[in-house]
Amino acid sequence: MCQFCHQHGEGEKWYFNAENYAEDLLSDLRRSKYIEHFFKDPQRLKDRINMLDTLNRMPGFVQAVIKPAIIGRMKKMHHGQVLPIEDVEEIFGFVNSVVRLPCVCRQASLGTEERYCYGLSMVPAEQSKLKGIVEAVGADYLTGPDMKGLETVPKKEALEHFKELEKKSLIHTVWTFVTPFIGGICNCDHDCMAFKATVMKSLPVMFRAEYVAKVEPELCIGCRNCISACQFGAINYSLARSKVAIEPRFCYGCGVCRVHCRKKAINLEERYKVPAAAGVW
Ligand code: SF4
Ligand code: SF4
Repeated sequence: MCQFCHQHGEGEKWYFNAENYAEDLLSDLRRSKYIEHFFKDPQRLKDRINMLDTLNRMPGFVQAVIKPAIIGRMKKMHHGQVLPIEDVEEIFGFVNSVVRLPCVCRQASLGTEERYCYGLSMVPAEQSKLKGIVEAVGADYLTGPDMKGLETVPKKEALEHFKELEKKSLIHTVWTFVTPFIGGICNCDHDCMAFKATVMKSLPVMFRAEYVAKVEPELCIGCRNCISACQFGAINYSLARSKVAIEPRFCYGCGVCRVHCRKKAINLEERYKVPAAAGVW
């Protein structure tokens, strides 16, 4: 289990601990201010990504000091972890309400309103302080092209949307707003700031999932559909064997490749049981 599970999971995966979604955590003024600022200024996220390019051009010894400091701060403030659809479903089973909202990252990187993010609450949506904080941010954030504001979504409908997004190879990620409070689950790709930082800018601010994918060689027909579905370049094709294999050290355990495999040749296993990946987060 990851570091967050040990610190905030009480013996299980940290995002299954209902206490991490508790509304009373939102009484913390620092946390509510952090959330407000996060939604108020999407451009700030874009500026930070641009700063990473500057950081990556600095001498190695400077990077060695600054990067751990940024990662440490991110873990305390806004940190995420990849999780597969089964775990999303389990979380939906115990939270009380699910609210769809426009993605701040897409607004920063594309300038468009894309409704890929879901806020979670242990109380009905109309009583949720989280919904209140985001709505209070105001019109700049909430009046995008479709003008819907925040939408309360039935869990079944939200889950169907998650499954649809998997077909487009988007990965699910769970996020803290001042750790350990969990604010929601997003659906990410290369337009997301944490994805850019982690995968494209070599600054890991998003944990890998508690799982690793594995191909059953006897079921694989070598069609290679899964390769283009993997956003992390973790799947290799062997010409000699006419089959694919997954490199456990590169796999983020999102499980999205499974959706693209007609032969059901890919399964997830617990990361801690795979020696090559057990310590790779
Ligand atoms: S999609 Fe399935 S059958 Fe096709 S190459 Fe990947 S694992 Fe093999
Ligand atoms: S190989 Fe790993 S990282 Fe790539 S899509 Fe499959 S589960 Fe996700």
